Amino acid sequence: MKDLKSLEVWFVTGSQYLYGEETLQQVAEHSQIIAKSFNDTSLIPVSIVFKPTVKTPEEIYNVCIEANTAKNCIGIIAWMHTFSPAKMWISGLKILQKPLCHLHTQFNSDIPWKEIDMDFMNLNQSAHGDREFGFIMTRMRLRRKVIVGHWQDPKVLDKINVWTRAAAGWNDWQGAKFVRFGDNMRYVAVTDGDKVEAEMKFGYSVNTHGIGDLVKVIGEVTDAEVDKLLQEYKDSYKLADSLQIGNEKYQSLIEAARIELGLQYFLEHGNFKGFTDTFEDLHGMTQLPGIGAQRLMAAGYGFAGEGDWKTAALVRAMKVMGSGLQGGNSFMEDYTYHFNPDNQMVLGSHMLEICPSIAHGKPSCEIHPLGIGGKADPVRLVFNVSGGTALNASVIDMGNRFRLLVNEVEAVAPVHELPKLPVARVLWKPLPDMATGCAAWILAGGAHHTCYSQNLTSEHLEDFAHMAGIEIVFIDRETRLREFKNELCWNEVYYHLNIK
Ligand code: MN
Repeated sequence: MKDLKSLEVWFVTGSQYLYGEETLQQVAEHSQIIAKSFNDTSLIPVSIVFKPTVKTPEEIYNVCIEANTAKNCIGIIAWMHTFSPAKMWISGLKILQKPLCHLHTQFNSDIPWKEIDMDFMNLNQSAHGDREFGFIMTRMRLRRKVIVGHWQDPKVLDKINVWTRAAAGWNDWQGAKFVRFGDNMRYVAVTDGDKVEAEMKFGYSVNTHGIGDLVKVIGEVTDAEVDKLLQEYKDSYKLADSLQIGNEKYQSLIEAARIELGLQYFLEHGNFKGFTDTFEDLHGMTQLPGIGAQRLMAAGYGFAGEGDWKTAALVRAMKVMGSGLQGGNSFMEDYTYHFNPDNQMVLGSHMLEICPSIAHGKPSCEIHPLGIGGKADPVRLVFNVSGGTALNASVIDMGNRFRLLVNEVEAVAPVHELPKLPVARVLWKPLPDMATGCAAWILAGGAHHTCYSQNLTSEHLEDFAHMAGIEIVFIDRETRLREFKNELCWNEVYYHLNIK
């Protein structure tokens, strides 16, 4: 997965010439110290780059233009150490296309009670300087993150960490290409949507290739490549008996490896960051990609089944956001329920394609029939998933806007063996409880397809949605259905007015 350290966030401090050279010198020194400490801490995954203090409309405009065009710059952290009259920021903020995080901090943590004088007051005045900056961003209806606290406070660092991860996901979408093999699953509504609007809003494109284009590439995979991958399967997973060399299903494993290598070649050479397929369109393919889709997801590609390009793109962005963190992100589907009144849970899975990045223990590589699609039995990785906090996220197309839904869940380690279930699976309890969580999700129109995350929080997705300028609704510990319904109504009006 992506090394986030190759990405830059620029640390920009605003001021003005009113204060004189000496004060500006101190402002610059303080900013450099803060930027360096952000860059040096392992708590922030990206590179933080100090930029000289901006003091005029021209300097502000120029740093915004530079940020827009700098390939590795994924956003700006802005701080007003002193007062920076905010009309100076209008022209720059008008053209800034990278995400902005407003850090409301102060160089000193404590007031030096005995020494404090007017010089100190004039130097350390972000308490009102940042309010002026906040006003202009609000006046311009600009979405941004505001982080408040001392710059060495671990809570502040964590909020910056979260925001930079969201910015990395957002940056990854800009110019990204996703390929859809075949169309949307016939008649399915929620997986479909406006790809033109998505490209305008999200920056990624989705284009279709007929399955024949993929089949051709699969046909060109060499035996040597297949042998190497078969060895990797053997080394990485518990291989079912029937798939062992020479046994009755060994040929299917060879085919699965060929499909994976063909897919990988297609994605690499087309510069795609993810893909979708559908079991309704497998002409010329022997099996639906199972293990191949699973392993490519684990390698960082976005994926979703049945032509669901919105979820495939979301899986990719969430994988980028979670780079380097413990746990994983996977394509997921609410599959079936445990409605026992004492212990209500969702069993999440898919026909085949759950990402082994969320697996507990070593997956087993198995082959079983697939009830639909009319093809040969597909090879897949089967595993359980640990308990712990997690979330499901889904993007839907509301017609006049995209909505991101997030449901925080509590995953539950399986207590029963599932000897006859031939797919990877997860058990979870939706927050705040099964009845409320599921009702809220359904009222908000959330898809059956999601990205399941073990390592991202609602805050990552909140920051991400604000960067995208889309609606986001949360279903969490605090959700009350009556208020939630009202929120949906109010949002309907807000987005109808098309304010921003
Ligand atoms: Mn599905």
